[in-house]
Amino acid sequence: MQADEAIVEEIFQEVQRRMSNPRFIRFIDSLNDAGMYVYVTGYDERFLYKSEGFPMDVLPIVNAAPKDRRWEFAVTDKDYILIFNLPQGQMVLGQSLATVAADLNSLMVKAIVIALLVVLITSFFGYWIIRNSLKPIKDISETAERIANGNIAEQIDTSKVRSELGQLADVLNRTFGRLGEALKRQIQFTSDASHELRTPVAAILADCQFSLKRERSPERYRETIEVCHESAQHMRSLIEDLRELADFDEKNESMVAELVDMKEFLSNVVSVMKPLAEEKGLALESELEEAMVYLDPIRMRQAVLNLLSNAVRYTDSAGEIFVRCIKRANSVVIEVCDTGIGIAPDKVQHIFERFYRADAARNADTGGVGLGLAISKSIVEANGGNISVKSTLGKGTCFRIQLRSEF
Ligand code: ADP
Repeated sequence: MQADEAIVEEIFQEVQRRMSNPRFIRFIDSLNDAGMYVYVTGYDERFLYKSEGFPMDVLPIVNAAPKDRRWEFAVTDKDYILIFNLPQGQMVLGQSLATVAADLNSLMVKAIVIALLVVLITSFFGYWIIRNSLKPIKDISETAERIANGNIAEQIDTSKVRSELGQLADVLNRTFGRLGEALKRQIQFTSDASHELRTPVAAILADCQFSLKRERSPERYRETIEVCHESAQHMRSLIEDLRELADFDEKNESMVAELVDMKEFLSNVVSVMKPLAEEKGLALESELEEAMVYLDPIRMRQAVLNLLSNAVRYTDSAGEIFVRCIKRANSVVIEVCDTGIGIAPDKVQHIFERFYRADAARNADTGGVGLGLAISKSIVEANGGNISVKSTLGKGTCFRIQLRSEF
């Protein structure tokens, strides 16, 4: 209200100053241009000036206004008016409420347009910012989808994603990499397994077809049955090894470890293999030091038996097999050495791979399927140890298992 009074006072001063000024009329015109109308009387209430469109029906209100106040404000149902009581006379300024409403309307339209523009611009920038910040996530999810659809070699481009998203992309890349490796191994494993099964199945089919083509002698039928029997045995050992490996892959956490007296444990394993070695004319000797190791004896027994059966399998008669147990400061070493056919230097690094068989073993047709060493390696590593091999072609092979021992 105080601000209103100040404005009215200002207008009052201005009118008072200008009424005696020759430019007064021009001032009045400017008020007209602003949509206001003016009515001026002299000190003796003589009519002096009336602008165009002045509503005469407001005059009763003007005349009734108290003369002792410098200004008065009044509103009718159509207009609002300001009445100034000056020493020189009276001046009335007014404006139609319709004009004010129109002004307000146009002001409101302008405000709405500006608000819409602000909303539009803000939305556009908001969309632009959100789109830019979500783009790396979109890229990541698209790459993940392509990987999920089988493109396992693909990686997320981390050069374009920063900060936390970059870390997430790194983690996803490592995870996808590991999954890709696992998938590759699985595909390789399945293809190797089917390849290995194909040979005995082909042998059975070929022999059966040959025998069934026409009537054969009882001896020939017997030969066919023997081929089928042999092939079935080969498949059985392959299936057992595969199941063993799959079991191991699935639950290698479920090792049942206990403190094992290695001297007793190994002499027992050696005694199991002795008849088989002697049957082939091989000497199987051992030199076992006292040692205690925390391990899963059932699994480890199989790992050592695999090495020993390989030694028997790949050593010609009159050869020798030697098992040692050596106690070291914090470890125990088990060695299984033979004087057999040995492994070529370029083959030796592959022998722990699943289904790998060196040429000599394939040619000798030992009945192995190439999984024994892979199984032994998994068992040794699950028991916290490591396995290595040294071999000289034509001279012999030495496998070495190293296990941790704090006893
Ligand atoms: P396999 O069932 O063929 O014996 P393994 O996984 O036990 O499968 O062994 C893989 C390959 O390593 C064998 O095919 C053979 O070529 C080689 N190998 C393993 N042990 C010996 C050994 N004591 N002497 C010579 N070669 C061996």
